[in-house]
Amino acid sequence: MDDHRAAMKDHEEKDAPVENDGLTAAQLFANGDGLTYNDFIILPGYIDFAAAEVDLHSPLTKKITLKTPLVSSPMDTVTEAEMAIAMALCGGIGIIHHNSAPHYQATQVKWVKEYRHGCIKDPKVLYPFDTIEDVINIKEAHGFSGLPITEKGNMGSKLLGIITSRDIDFLDNSYYQKNTKVISVMTKFENLVTAPVGVTIKEANAILKKTKKGKLPIINDKGELVALMSRTDLKKNFDYPGGSKDEKDRLLVGASISTRVVDKERVKLLVDNGVDVIVLDSSQGNSIYQIDMLKYLKAQYPDLQVIAGNVVTIGQAKNLIEAGADGLRVGMGSGSICITQEVMAVGRAQATAVYKVSEYARKFGVPVIADGGIQSVGHITKGLSIGASTVMMGSLLAGTFAAPGSYFFNEGVKLKRFRGMGSLEAMDSRGSHGSALDRYFQSEIDKLKVAQGVSGSIVDKGSTLKFLTYLQCGIKHGCQDIGAKSITALRTMMYSGELRFEKRTHSAQKEGNVHGLFSYEKRLF
Ligand code: NAD
Ligand code: IMP
Repeated sequence: MDDHRAAMKDHEEKDAPVENDGLTAAQLFANGDGLTYNDFIILPGYIDFAAAEVDLHSPLTKKITLKTPLVSSPMDTVTEAEMAIAMALCGGIGIIHHNSAPHYQATQVKWVKEYRHGCIKDPKVLYPFDTIEDVINIKEAHGFSGLPITEKGNMGSKLLGIITSRDIDFLDNSYYQKNTKVISVMTKFENLVTAPVGVTIKEANAILKKTKKGKLPIINDKGELVALMSRTDLKKNFDYPGGSKDEKDRLLVGASISTRVVDKERVKLLVDNGVDVIVLDSSQGNSIYQIDMLKYLKAQYPDLQVIAGNVVTIGQAKNLIEAGADGLRVGMGSGSICITQEVMAVGRAQATAVYKVSEYARKFGVPVIADGGIQSVGHITKGLSIGASTVMMGSLLAGTFAAPGSYFFNEGVKLKRFRGMGSLEAMDSRGSHGSALDRYFQSEIDKLKVAQGVSGSIVDKGSTLKFLTYLQCGIKHGCQDIGAKSITALRTMMYSGELRFEKRTHSAQKEGNVHGLFSYEKRLF
């Protein structure tokens, strides 16, 4: 080959159309295989911006846009007020579960809406004759110290003192010391710095800064404890300025309900307490029960955003969109605790479900939540890259501080309970509180419980806020590698065919994981 022809060939190769490299999303999902997040990879693009510049805004529903596309699942071991507050502080949203009495759920919603940075409305409070061991147990189970002590051991009773780590750090581990009553060790009322009811966040912050205290009890004119301000929580205001807020500057919160007629009463309570979005919670959302409830909600509360689901097919999505859904929750059988596909023989591989439903729903302006099966931050980016607007997580958040439940140890490992909402354990916990799960036992066929989930435990993951910050940073870095400066750009690139994917063989998946090491430690952040 002469020099000229070689140069021409070189040139032609350089100009080879990029379309020949990798697959478009449409091609990836074309042949009817059910794909999971692990079955494909996204090909990298061109970087001309910093990861920090990536904009994570993305719609949750037709009318609500989140600053971060993260949603916590309405499971009783994942989302109550504390988790919902953490999610909203980080720009996402928490959906409070409904496996509780309507009033309990509505109170959780209220706490989120009334949340003021630094103000704890339901702190753990001790009775003067509780022991040091009680303090240690609370610290281990909930990860905090700084406990007020009141006359009756509850809020609203006369404040007697405070006990903090500093008061007990130097006590030895003896039986005698563990049984010492807190009244003899606490910092007594006369030496406490307190503030009166009505103190502003700014004033409280100034007091904490000046006195270098960690906790500031708020008392009324009778000396009764009404709230507790915390230095670490106040700091969150500065660390997390990008929270999801409504027009009145209150954090956003969602709540789930069932499709039982009785839950119409529950919705009223939730709406009265300021809920921003309702999630109709079902594994198979394409039912007459859900469509009736959806139509009722949209007629009764036209301003309320309602997310319907779960769905995994276009046919299911069509019915719910026609009935007025403002968002769709996608996923059947992909959850970490799920046995639906095994028991019911129905469901769909999650990546395929997300792509198919999103591709259809976008024509109607209905955003999709990719729900279940998220095992890593990479899975979140993958879910968003195939059309989901937000991602819902259960297991990924379940072991963090803000998830309901206490930590316990098993063979030296620190754990929390985590269970499916269709597990026997969750079903058994229904009843007295009149939760939606009662419906399982309405008919003869339902007298025998058929579990769709398991119950178990999950390893401690530490601070929820820190973990969520890691997820946000991880998504931004993923988008940077892809060359998408925003979630919106990511979706546009995918639908235009610019975003390229590749299927992963079994050995490609093995290669993409740590291999060939004798031992290693997997620290993520
Ligand atoms: P569900 O309420 O949708 O269904 C339970 C049973 O009640 C079904 O037989 C349903 O047809 C019936 N039912 C519902 N509304 C009714 C009404 N108004 N009248 C008469 N019967 C009615 O709940 P589910 O699908 O069993 O899910 C229970 C929980 O478990 C939910 O939290 C759900 O998210 C979770 N789950 C999720 C998945 C998943 O893959 N995403 C799978 C299983 C369970
Ligand atoms: P994870 O993020 O993989 O843990 O999945 C969480 C999702 O699993 C939830 O948001 C629900 O959609 C789903 N889910 C919750 N409980 C059950 C159950 O008991 N069986 C099956 N799926 C469940």
